[in-house]
Amino acid sequence: MPTAAILTAAGSGTRLGLPGPKALVELAGVPLVLHAARRLAAAGVVTFVVVTVPPGRAAGFHALLGGPVPPGIGGPVRPGIGVPVTVVEGGASRQASVAAGLAALPDDVDVVLVHDAARALASPGLVRAVERAVRAGHRAVVPGLPVADTLKQVGDETPDGARPVVATVPRSTTRAVQTPQGFDRALLDAAHAAGRDRATDEATAATDDASLVEALGERVWVVPGEEAAMKITTTRDLAVAELLVRSESVPVRA
Ligand code: C5P
Repeated sequence: MPTAAILTAAGSGTRLGLPGPKALVELAGVPLVLHAARRLAAAGVVTFVVVTVPPGRAAGFHALLGGPVPPGIGGPVRPGIGVPVTVVEGGASRQASVAAGLAALPDDVDVVLVHDAARALASPGLVRAVERAVRAGHRAVVPGLPVADTLKQVGDETPDGARPVVATVPRSTTRAVQTPQGFDRALLDAAHAAGRDRATDEATAATDDASLVEALGERVWVVPGEEAAMKITTTRDLAVAELLVRSESVPVRA
């Protein structure tokens, strides 16, 4: 049975100070979305990639990713990526974009990896590890790293701009969670259907897919994450990612 990937790339570049989509920002001369798609394909376990793109931007992404193909496992292989790719317009939140990607998946897909283009350097090995854990029977799997900082739960901001500490979260019980996140397709479909009302507004939308599964009362499992799967949000992150990609012993190229 096939594994498909949804690659979320419909976010804006606002926090990078850019007018256009963040996924088109170049890292070592290659757009983030292409880095991410190539690494997903290089894992050798993904047979189909659906990329969620900002509304009105489909043509540009089609050109970059090799052109549109109808949803279906048998589509043409994309040059420089290695598996068939299709593009769908995303929604008002990441959650809505993933839901649009899910709706575009062929019926026979039974495992889905959801990955952020903003985590452009997540390695093929991490993709394989997440997929393997789902195939081994863990229906919802996320990569996570131990946290270095001490974590405080805080209350509402006061007029002077401070916040009261409510509690200290024991650090050893936490993980900073990344993507790709892997799911049994039926479970992910059910989680998105149950959480649909939250998706229309960033304020209520889930920031990852695992939290929708948790809201169903289903178990989510953590496997070891990696530094390379860092999320590129700021210009500093972009500079760090540039160092990482240039130090890769086997760069993933076309
Ligand atoms: O905004 P944030 O950094 O949480 O976005 C995480 C990922 O979700 C990014 O890859 C971004 O392109 C994607 N996204 C999306 N649709 C949105 C908002 C974000 O596909 N409406």
